[in-house]
Amino acid sequence: MRQRLVVIGNGMAGARTVEEILARGGDFAITMFGDEPYGNYNRIMLSNVLAGVEDESGIFLNDLSWYADNGITLHTGTRIERIDRFARMVYATDGTATPYDKLIIATGSRAFVPPIPGLHRPGRGYHQGVFAFRTLDDTRAMIRYAKEHERAVVIGGGLLGLEAARGLQNHLPHVTLIHAAGHLMNAQLNEVAGETLRATIERKLGIEVVVSAQTTEILGKHAVTGVRLADGRVIGCDVVVVAAGIRANAEMAAASGLVVERGIVVDDQMRAQDEDDIYAVGECAQHRGETYGLVAPLWDQAKVLADHLTGVNPFAEYHGSQVATKLKVAGVDVASMGLKEPERDDDESLTFTEPGKGVYKNVIIRDGRLVGATMVGDVKKVAFLMQAFDRGLALPEERAELMFDLGGPAGEVKVEDMPDDEQVCNCNGVSKGAICSTVQSGCKTVSGVMDKTRAGKGCGTCKPIVQRIVEWAAGGEVEEDPAASYYVPGIPMPKPELMNAIRLHDLRSVSSVFATLGGEEDAKSKMGLASLLKMMWGGDYVDERDARFINDRVHANIQRDGTFSVVPQMKGGVTTPAQLRRIAEVAEKHEVPMVKLTGGQRIDLLGIPKEKLPEVWADLDMPSGYAYGKSFRTVKTCVGSDFCRFGVGDSTALGIALEERYQGIEGPGKMKLAVTGCPRNCAEAYVKDLGVVAIDGGKWEIYVGGAAGAHIRKGDLLTTVDSADEVMVLTGRFLQYYRENANWLERTYAFVPRIGIDRVREIVVDDKDGIAAGLDAAMEASVAAYRDPWKDRDQPATPGQFRTSLPLTVLPQVPVRA
Ligand SMILES: Cc1cc2nc3c(=O)[nH]c(=O)nc-3n(C[C@H](O)[C@H](O)[C@H](O)COP(=O)(O)OP(=O)(O)OC[C@H]3O[C@@H](n4cnc5c(N)ncnc54)[C@H](O)[C@@H]3O)c2cc1C
Ligand code: SF4
Ligand code: SF4
Repeated sequence: MRQRLVVIGNGMAGARTVEEILARGGDFAITMFGDEPYGNYNRIMLSNVLAGVEDESGIFLNDLSWYADNGITLHTGTRIERIDRFARMVYATDGTATPYDKLIIATGSRAFVPPIPGLHRPGRGYHQGVFAFRTLDDTRAMIRYAKEHERAVVIGGGLLGLEAARGLQNHLPHVTLIHAAGHLMNAQLNEVAGETLRATIERKLGIEVVVSAQTTEILGKHAVTGVRLADGRVIGCDVVVVAAGIRANAEMAAASGLVVERGIVVDDQMRAQDEDDIYAVGECAQHRGETYGLVAPLWDQAKVLADHLTGVNPFAEYHGSQVATKLKVAGVDVASMGLKEPERDDDESLTFTEPGKGVYKNVIIRDGRLVGATMVGDVKKVAFLMQAFDRGLALPEERAELMFDLGGPAGEVKVEDMPDDEQVCNCNGVSKGAICSTVQSGCKTVSGVMDKTRAGKGCGTCKPIVQRIVEWAAGGEVEEDPAASYYVPGIPMPKPELMNAIRLHDLRSVSSVFATLGGEEDAKSKMGLASLLKMMWGGDYVDERDARFINDRVHANIQRDGTFSVVPQMKGGVTTPAQLRRIAEVAEKHEVPMVKLTGGQRIDLLGIPKEKLPEVWADLDMPSGYAYGKSFRTVKTCVGSDFCRFGVGDSTALGIALEERYQGIEGPGKMKLAVTGCPRNCAEAYVKDLGVVAIDGGKWEIYVGGAAGAHIRKGDLLTTVDSADEVMVLTGRFLQYYRENANWLERTYAFVPRIGIDRVREIVVDDKDGIAAGLDAAMEASVAAYRDPWKDRDQPATPGQFRTSLPLTVLPQVPVRA
């Protein structure tokens, strides 16, 4: 007779363990009890359901037919009240008694609800308007109630509380988060990181955060009307969500005689202490003194227990898990793992903070291994950090590469070296092997594999690794996600195809493109098309103003108070006393609130009202510096060989020549250039879209794809040339290739890696495709079509071009600095 396996708890750990047992061919008569009325669902996705980014139906992992198909007897909505360890029987609330040979307890946790007066109605559960956040039923009830009310208070500023607060904003207008500790996510973050997060939550999401606040009472007679804090403050609200932590559901086990501390105490095989045939997995288990509140450990535990129970490896052992957390709140990036602060004197610790941008990064290294990392506001490196943390990988010599993309070797694990059972997506417990077999079964797009396996569909951290595995498993035959190659989202065509169609039909306006090719007329697509048409037709395209962003319509950069900034051209950052005098006079005459030097070596006149723009331009009588559009911006230069002791090339002259050539050239994204007179790189040419560096022997190196904004990347060396003339030719050819092939808003730092620097070199330098002459000619045509847009001052493109339309409401005033 088959052994009878009974599982108490049909949540993530219970169902996963059964899946693992089935995958190993385990031959048991399986019965499962779950006190929720459903099949098994992905609990972590409840945050996404609350936030409205995921539909309920999308979170189910195993529907009822899965149990039937696998011969599992499932009792939903049935709670086990007692285990009789001697009679080997479990007793359920429906009065049934079920015998077992092996028993797995996977009862998870429940929300911890602190003993705050007013939270409960005597004998009737929570007070009306109070909710916990643990189950699908909790989430549904919360959504229903929140939709009909105005103000919510979330008690608890940990991961769950933050996700609840963000989710509630989807249903009601005012959310306040109350946290007892001194800073948010204090279990994972140190004080500075927590403070950075608080500022972001308030500024970006508009959630009011109150820290160091004890809730002492829930107010309201029939329904919640507010909460009182220890300092006497009252915060009015109609909804209270308690997210103050979790407690293991272990009372039933304890009452049945099992050893329970914070959870059910288990050994390395997940066996309950002093028991032969009772096991515990998931949040209800306590292993080596630890209980866990995240999913990653339970995937590991389920595997060990399945190996052991099925006899695949009777001696399999679980040794604990390293946990990493990521906040699932769109627009607020937080990831943390391991230590939040150094502990030993010899721990290496690197910290980077940029409070203005809400960025805090910290890594802690011990004996050459990553033992802690915190990323707030920028989690680009988190995939690698998680791997390094989890697997104790060797770290890059250049420690800063742990925090920034410096363009060096990525320091990532090779996909081929990863074992098949290595977990790639922690949220959904997907291994490398599962991804590979999906590819082998014929699914060869990254998004298709993500849909099928659910890898990367949780917090999203693992997406880059999922992509690399799909590429590797497909052996170079990975199929492009078609939408990823569209130039603009509204027209389903890659750029070369779109350009051919535009030429074929002789389309010269944005509206004619939509009329002829179809598609969806969204603002982003219109702007991208306007830019493309201008590049293709030069002066012969029809400039429909509604397709353009305000900056492009008035050739100036709109500021937060609705005024504009005026940046006149200053080629290569070189100016003259006469120019400076004129700028000073204009600033005085128009009482310009602020005159500021820019990072691109120019002078910015800030605070000019729209209707004054033509007059200011006329008084300046200087061409536009293009400090606003998706276009060529400026060429930053160092002083170079004329004056600098180290200079080996005339960087200033070359910079001016480049700026004269490319002024006003539109593109899919900004194009920032620099020329530097020696590799000391005073003009930062290595981190520009296009950088030129003089080296010994009169030669010049050309770098492409660099960036030093929100994204930091050292450019790739395209080639080394012998003369400034060759620089002119090759830079023009590269820029034209970028203009013709990059998607709208795709900067060179994304474009160059997408194409691959070797391929870019083949095309631009070696002319392998025989298109160099065409690229050169197209660039020449654009250069010849240059016209200073500030000439619009004499002949506005439309009567309302410079008519003031702002502010319709009072906008914040930018402070004037003396
Ligand atoms: C909103 C939310 C967001 C989360 N986000 C993340 C995240 O981003 N990343 C992450 O790693 N983790 C996250 N978690 C935590 C994660 O969901 C849990 O770690 C995981 O669900 C634990 O699985 P489990 O099987 O141990 O417990 P559960 O999934 O809770 O399953 C236990 C099941 O047992 C049932 N049960 C309890 N007692 C009995 C009984 N006596 N008889 C019968 N049935 C019983 C319960 O009703 C429940 O259905 C989140 C949790 C929530 C609530
Ligand atoms: S590894 Fe995959 S998706 Fe996660 S922890 Fe994460 S997505 Fe989350
Ligand atoms: S980059 Fe070289 S040439 Fe230019 S200023 Fe610096 S040291 Fe001088």
